[in-house]
Amino acid sequence: MSDLPTDAELLAFVEEMLPAQRATAVEQQLRESSELRERAAELIRVRDQGGRTVGEIWRRHRLSCPSRSELSSLVLGVLDSELADYIGFHIEQVGCRVCEANLEDLQEAHAALQQSAPPASRQERIFESSAGILRDRSRRD
Ligand SMILES: [Zn+2]
Repeated sequence: MSDLPTDAELLAFVEEMLPAQRATAVEQQLRESSELRERAAELIRVRDQGGRTVGEIWRRHRLSCPSRSELSSLVLGVLDSELADYIGFHIEQVGCRVCEANLEDLQEAHAALQQSAPPASRQERIFESSAGILRDRSRRD
């Protein structure tokens, strides 16, 4: 594993002051490590309490926004859990309203699609319910 960013580097990343290449590496590490995301969230909290709204800066520049297709994978429940956690961090801790709005949009479209779909055949219904059970099981692990 390549060296983890220092607190100063994390803040510099949030404020878009890291060289592009290093910023890409840090973003990758944030995607992969929940520990690092917690550290970043804590740093943002501390800085925000000091009157500096790093979260605002992050939101304004839309740093590290997941793509629309990643968001729709999340809605469909087919996104890998690491990335799903990252998006949760991005929306809840960073408070990205753009992604939050996008996600709500996709969720509504998905719900509407399911309601307007013709009644599934018996076989499809059985398949869907067992797929649901499988998903619930893997979530518990
Ligand atoms: Zn975003």
